[in-house]
Amino acid sequence: MRLDHSVIFFMMVQIGSKETNSSLSCRSLDFRSQENILRIATFVHNGKRHVGQVSADGLQVTPFALTEAQAHHGAQLLIDNLVAGQPLPALSGATLAVSSVKLESPLPVPRRNVWCVGRNYHAHAKELQASVFKDSNTDTKAWPIVFTKVPECVVGPTDDVVLPGAAVSDQIDYEAELAVIIGQGGKNISQADAMKHVFGYTVVNDVTARDVQMRHQQWDMGKSFDTFCPMGPWIVTADETDGRKTRVRCWVNGELRQDGPTENMIFDIPTLIETISRGITLYPGDIIATGTPAGVGMGLNPPRYIAKGDVIRVEIDGVGQIENRFV
Ligand code: MG
Repeated sequence: MRLDHSVIFFMMVQIGSKETNSSLSCRSLDFRSQENILRIATFVHNGKRHVGQVSADGLQVTPFALTEAQAHHGAQLLIDNLVAGQPLPALSGATLAVSSVKLESPLPVPRRNVWCVGRNYHAHAKELQASVFKDSNTDTKAWPIVFTKVPECVVGPTDDVVLPGAAVSDQIDYEAELAVIIGQGGKNISQADAMKHVFGYTVVNDVTARDVQMRHQQWDMGKSFDTFCPMGPWIVTADETDGRKTRVRCWVNGELRQDGPTENMIFDIPTLIETISRGITLYPGDIIATGTPAGVGMGLNPPRYIAKGDVIRVEIDGVGQIENRFV
């Protein structure tokens, strides 16, 4: 039986909202055929922002029937509506080649800061143990390091990242990361229930000014320079992929620098959701960047920071890739 997307999501949301019945999960339904794969992109075509459904091969996109005002916040309205039990909007208009549109971040300006996790892969914890993590709790399993990036630093999957100039920072680094998009919000979410709150996944480069990160007691400044959060190319919904078992890779000018399976996370996705929602309400559309594997520029000997003209590609199996030039 082929189910319409809106029906599928209505079922997911209904099931996901039944907190008392932990034996049910979104993934217990069998609707993982190719026709039901859902990727949601935000894009500009003919000067207007749209939100659309991307084909399973990632080559085509069909806009949803949204007004310009509804599409203004990208996929946010869809997430809000689906979580509220409303159906997915109808598809409308011509199917376009993805190559003919300009992809934006699926959430162009998230409604609040992007949650980020530091030191979440063992090998990365080790490579920066004498620098970034020197003054941190040495027990990597105690509690995750959590910080945020301001929403306005988010840019699209192919946008330029602007180096701030040597007077501000000359130690710009990359961090390839899987990002979780929250669907159903909540507070004090248990690990057992956490995956029901995942709407989907996207790709993030947590660009970092290492000298600024090290200079201040908190990391937000060194992580939040304008354009320092490339994101995209779309959201892959949680019914298609499982972020707990995929692979995060990063290339700098074609040279593979990072390659880590998400199974190697120190704190897995359910633990991160449980931790961040302790006493803090998570909302639909909240983003959690889950940390980066080993191989960042600062961890190399000698360190290799980003220079003007470098091109960085981050790819996550089952989700997609982003590629940004640093200018
Ligand atoms: Mg990071």
